[in-house]
Amino acid sequence: MNQQDLQFIGGARRSGSGAPLSITAPATGAVIATGAGANAADAAAAVAAARDAFGDWAGRTPGARSDLMHEWARVLRERSGELAAVESVNAGKPIRLAGEFDVAGTIDNTAFFAGAARQLEGKAAAEYSGDHTSSIRREPLGVIGSIAPWNYPLQMAAWKILPAVAAGNTVVLKPSELTPLSTLLFAEAGTAAGLPPGVINVLTGTGVAAGQPLVEHPAVAMVSFTGSTAVGKRVAAAAAGAVKRVHLELGGKAPFVVFDDADPEAAARGAVAGALINAGQDCTAATRAYVQRPLFEEFVGRVAELMDRVTLGPVEDPGTDMGPLISRAHREKVHGMVERARESGAKVVRGGRIPAWTPAAGAYYEPTLITGAAQDSEIVQREIFGPVLVVLPFDTDDEAIALANDTDYGLAASAWSRDVFRTQRASRDIRAGCVWINDHIPIVSEMPHGGYKSSGFGKDMSAYAFEEYTNIKHVMSDITGAARKPWHDVIFQAE
Ligand code: NDP
Repeated sequence: MNQQDLQFIGGARRSGSGAPLSITAPATGAVIATGAGANAADAAAAVAAARDAFGDWAGRTPGARSDLMHEWARVLRERSGELAAVESVNAGKPIRLAGEFDVAGTIDNTAFFAGAARQLEGKAAAEYSGDHTSSIRREPLGVIGSIAPWNYPLQMAAWKILPAVAAGNTVVLKPSELTPLSTLLFAEAGTAAGLPPGVINVLTGTGVAAGQPLVEHPAVAMVSFTGSTAVGKRVAAAAAGAVKRVHLELGGKAPFVVFDDADPEAAARGAVAGALINAGQDCTAATRAYVQRPLFEEFVGRVAELMDRVTLGPVEDPGTDMGPLISRAHREKVHGMVERARESGAKVVRGGRIPAWTPAAGAYYEPTLITGAAQDSEIVQREIFGPVLVVLPFDTDDEAIALANDTDYGLAASAWSRDVFRTQRASRDIRAGCVWINDHIPIVSEMPHGGYKSSGFGKDMSAYAFEEYTNIKHVMSDITGAARKPWHDVIFQAE
């Protein structure tokens, strides 16, 4: 048994004082680590460490913070093999995905924010009143309390921590208690690179035992949350009581709109990759494909063929395309949604089953393709977070856009067409934080990620993330040196 200290507070690993946790491998069900979870006392200790570190960290020059973050990126690159192996086992990701997407993306993000730390921007200083010079200071907020989900543990930790610390904040991050191991390695790499103790702290525990006291702690200036819309609402309500700033990255239900002049092969391949990435446990995954009627049958047939070629297998095998879901409990939830769709008349064209190949306790599920579902049904409206693509037909462009917008979510979407006018209209009219044209899924560190509607507000990645993690201060300096100023006459006219 691998007994571990699961907390990282003040620059060192330590044990929690809460209930014991067992961390399992989703592919096999084997326990890979055990340790004590965090409770309110650990949350208080982590916040105290972050508060103690804040003054020094915020006071360093952007260049000094940038140098340490560049070194952090270098340490991560050096440890990329270990990071990929840990992420793969703990989150049930095929090793190719963990290495080429999760770890590579995290290193790139770290390098991006190392550079961006020196590029914080504000309005030009100027004499707007004529008698004063106005300037803008962009200042860190203090201690950020961050909460992350289990689907991309390393990347979510990076997205939360990097812009915050680049801007001079300190962070206490609570990963999902199912998947803390790569987050702990990420924080340790930062410390090895020279980030001062307390700048990054990791609090491993359940939402109720560790997350809630973190969100409610009076010394936490802002709460940054990525997870489900239901829990996000609770977190926002708790933060509102203390007038804390909140950043919410919530669920998604991305539409994938295929117009009749699209390249059918490109669209089918894009749909399979976009729906099955991370076994569909991706907030931007393609989940609802709307295909114009002339292409519908061909698209469904080709997607089914491609799904048949997706290899499920052990996550450490480089030949494995798709790994398990995060847990058997989550698989039950996904399967329940597929079964209810089937019972209500939808056709399960492929999948909808636990595969024949699966280690005894692994949470595998077959790539699943569904047609004939009603637009207002659960499988079309609610987040599945599994390898399930629903395909529905449409007739007119206006109908496609209306269907694409017809859910509570608005995180991401894609439109497929060779007609630039159509794709431009789709990118304008679809209400989502990201619209891909003739692709679905790619992300870059330089561009923002965030939602509309019930998918939340605020941006991760890119320089836009600094808007979340900084306060704007207006400094207005008199430049006349006069004791009696013209505007005083509005209030009093004494000599
Ligand atoms: P949850 O909302 O269930 O949990 C998210 C995090 O919140 C976990 O760390 C959880 O801890 C914690 N939490 C639960 N209750 C509380 C509470 N009362 N106070 C503070 N923290 C709490 O989401 P999942 O982990 O199941 O992740 C999947 C969800 O995340 C999906 O809806 C997905 O769309 C969304 N997501 C959104 C992304 C985006 O960028 N918009 C990116 C990735 C995922 P615990 O583990 O103990 O429950």
